[in-house]
Amino acid sequence: MTRREVACEHKNFSIIQKEETYPVLGEDTTIVANVKVCDDCGEEIFDFRLD
Ligand SMILES: [Zn+2]
Repeated sequence: MTRREVACEHKNFSIIQKEETYPVLGEDTTIVANVKVCDDCGEEIFDFRLD
């Protein structure tokens, strides 16, 4: 399998729920974000149109 020879077009992806925790005013606040992850290269694809 060749890698990185052709730029991945992220044609195949899964949508996962990813928990991210940020410290806000001294308290840890956890949000759940919908994130697309490419099935081919594993890269996160940011798409803020996702609801
Ligand atoms: Zn990709």
